[in-house]
Amino acid sequence: MLTLKGVVLTHKPIGEQDRFIDILTADRGVIEVLVKGAAKISSKTGSATQLFAYSEFSLADRKGGSYFLSSVSPVRIFYGLRSSVTAVALASYFSQVLTYAVLPKSGTPELLRLLLNCLHLLSQKGADEQQIKCIFELRCASLLGFMPDVVMCRRCGAYLPHDLVFSPRKGGFVCEDCYLPPELPSGDIPMPAGSLRAIRHIVLSEPERIFSFRVSERCREPLFAFSEQFLRYHLDREFPALEYYHIITGTPAPGADGST
Ligand SMILES: [Zn+2]
Repeated sequence: MLTLKGVVLTHKPIGEQDRFIDILTADRGVIEVLVKGAAKISSKTGSATQLFAYSEFSLADRKGGSYFLSSVSPVRIFYGLRSSVTAVALASYFSQVLTYAVLPKSGTPELLRLLLNCLHLLSQKGADEQQIKCIFELRCASLLGFMPDVVMCRRCGAYLPHDLVFSPRKGGFVCEDCYLPPELPSGDIPMPAGSLRAIRHIVLSEPERIFSFRVSERCREPLFAFSEQFLRYHLDREFPALEYYHIITGTPAPGADGST
């Protein structure tokens, strides 16, 4: 018997009664658990195994490396999420990213902490959903091993140029003076210094500080475009929940037409 805490990322029905759930854990990455009789289990078990629930699971080993659910109790249910369709879309997007990108049996305490903090903030009234999304994308990319190079202009070494161009593909930036426009669309993103400061804050700060910053209005759009394109480029995958988020918010996906 194994006892661990984790967040439910996905549900997959198996026949009429059972379902598989994927759980993000601190020590074992994403694990797959078979919930027998999910269609008729008690409401307590039901709430503890619903999407985005943070629960303590008791698991029995099963052949083939997955587990049976033996018992479960909720630790934290993010009820506030349900009041916002866009918050649910973002929580689904975060879950799809983690299900895809986290390797089995990998230690992921920081990713679990990041997800829990994002779910907590998304479930608050008046949450700045775009900023939470951006922080998740950049910090998650960094924790998965894709940290952007935020040190200085790659050509002249300027630390904080007034204006710059950041490349999600190359993962680094050059100052406006050093930038040579490419012949083909590149997805490069022009941005002011404030956006770069925010990127540095998100990827370099201690975990407890990553959410505590503000950016001015004109720095937000390039920052948000960069975070989404950077993560998408490195994972090389489309996520249905992200497409849905763009549809319901009426925001075009950055770089969808080959430009920014
Ligand atoms: Zn330069």
